[in-house]
Amino acid sequence: MSMGPGRMRGGYLTEEEKQNKPKVTWALLKRVFSYLTPYWKQLILALLCIFLSSVMRLFPSILTGRIIDEGLIGRNMNILIKLIMILFAVTVGSEMIGVAENYIQSWMAQHITYDMRNQMYRHLQQMSQSFFTTNNQGDIITRMTSDISGVRSVITNTFTSILSNVITLICAVVAMFQKNWVLAVIGMVIVPLFTLPTRAAGKTRWELTREAQNASDEMNGILNETLSVSGQLLVKLFCRQDDEYEKYRSVNQKMVDLSIRESMAGRWFRVVLSTVVNIGPMILYLVGGYLMIVKGMELTVGDITVLVSLLSKMYGPVNSLLNMQVEWIRSMAMFTRIFEYFDMPVEIKNRENALVPTEAHGNIDFEKVFFRYDDSRMILKNVTFSLKSGNSIAIVGPSGSGKSTIINLIPRLYDVTEGSVKFDGNDVRDLDLNFLRGNVGVVTQETYLFNGTIRDNLLYAKPDATEEELIEAARKANIYDFIMSQEKGFDSMVGNRGLKLSGGEKQRISIARVLLKDPALLIFDEATSALDSISESKIQEAIDPLIESRTSILIAHRLSTIMAADEILVVRDGEIVERGVHEDLVKQGGVYTELYETQFKKELLAAGHNNK
Ligand code: ATP
Repeated sequence: MSMGPGRMRGGYLTEEEKQNKPKVTWALLKRVFSYLTPYWKQLILALLCIFLSSVMRLFPSILTGRIIDEGLIGRNMNILIKLIMILFAVTVGSEMIGVAENYIQSWMAQHITYDMRNQMYRHLQQMSQSFFTTNNQGDIITRMTSDISGVRSVITNTFTSILSNVITLICAVVAMFQKNWVLAVIGMVIVPLFTLPTRAAGKTRWELTREAQNASDEMNGILNETLSVSGQLLVKLFCRQDDEYEKYRSVNQKMVDLSIRESMAGRWFRVVLSTVVNIGPMILYLVGGYLMIVKGMELTVGDITVLVSLLSKMYGPVNSLLNMQVEWIRSMAMFTRIFEYFDMPVEIKNRENALVPTEAHGNIDFEKVFFRYDDSRMILKNVTFSLKSGNSIAIVGPSGSGKSTIINLIPRLYDVTEGSVKFDGNDVRDLDLNFLRGNVGVVTQETYLFNGTIRDNLLYAKPDATEEELIEAARKANIYDFIMSQEKGFDSMVGNRGLKLSGGEKQRISIARVLLKDPALLIFDEATSALDSISESKIQEAIDPLIESRTSILIAHRLSTIMAADEILVVRDGEIVERGVHEDLVKQGGVYTELYETQFKKELLAAGHNNK
């Protein structure tokens, strides 16, 4: 469940939040606090500050008693001045401590979120490709951003307020009991008694506001739908004006009712609030006066003033502690969501003592490989083939037959379900991932370029490449002339995801990028999307010599690429059904012949036609 930015959160849980209440276990709490342990020194300082500032906040109330009794009623100017000076010093002091407290808290919060963000990003990078294909990108980003930022607010707000409110309350109660136990007991009954109705009133108001928000959303929705060009066209052509008007009018009416109720609930809310705040002192004055005047109890005017003042300081903390429960549940839900991500196992990782051979040749062996993405169906079935260093293989087959899946297994984007894939005789699962991926270059169907210059994109493969190497790679990929024709050459911007370039140009840049990496094995997933014949032939000119000179596997859709390969594998429904060279396969009358008749022949005819 992702909470999103949630406009109407307030001090009450929504139905959705109630249903998804997190299980708060010791393990969870211990884990949350484990993020604090590196900063234990700062934590102690922060706790000290919170303690001091909570106590100091009550100090003025307590001093007032002495100011009244000893200074004013006792008519002693010296004591009065001394007490006022102490009061001033305490006020300034508590403000200063407040500043220090803020600094330490935000320092800690920032450092903890810094650690968490880095840890999360590192973890996400290690997740297998299937994590990114199954999870919604928006959810992943919410977790990285809003949830982790939520942690900051938990540390600076939730934890701090719980602590400081509890300390304030304890100190206030202790101080009250010291003055007079009867009045202290009355105070302790009054505070919760009067806080609860305030809360109930607040809740009604909050619910009404939420309903009014929903009605307003509904109204906006109707406007958006029906006042657009196509919406109006639909309304007119289907004669729905009256129905739409009626729909709008009834939501409008609902909105008016709700808003009036909301503003009146607001008014009642204020009545309850101010009555509560005023009745408490009234009761204390009354009972205090009775004890002092009638019963002759040892109680001064100052004492009663202190008690009333302390009482008024208790409403705030009690109220916010009641709200805290909601904050607490939300924080725990947030931590649970974050930890869920941390706990997802890293499926594809280096095994202990992974092999790092000194050289790579690019020999590939698939031995009885079975593979499925999820529990549903087997995508690859008993795939066996070998590619010797220096040779090339073309994989052909109908769409969805499993061609891309075969090549995904080589750089371990996924691991086999059964069987094995070997690189230079070693199972890819035994090899160091950086070694393996460093020696396998893949040009995917969808070329992904980062927003930056052509140079940035090329250097991604080899950050320390020299200018000569860049030029050579660009030449081989048949893109050098294009780059030079740009005003800024290698420093031209490619636009967001390379949008400023054509499909063919992007593909050739990504070929140059992979050439710069100079891998032992080159994998090329030929784009199925139609490029114009000029772009096609430019890519062709780049690819053909590569097939000749490099160990390569190509998912091919064009006859010329297929014919340039040393061996052709024909895949159907995840199985290799035919293999061999073009001349033999074409005569077999099987899948390849069919593909040849339906797809490749057209190309041949078109080429023949062009040649004429
Ligand atoms: P095309 O020529 O259209 O690119 P292909 O032969 O390369 O097709 P694959 O991409 O290997 O086919 O897909 C083989 C099968 O696996 C398809 O049926 C596809 O639906 C399924 N598939 C591909 N990727 C995933 C994935 N991440 N999760 C689950 N199933 C997948």
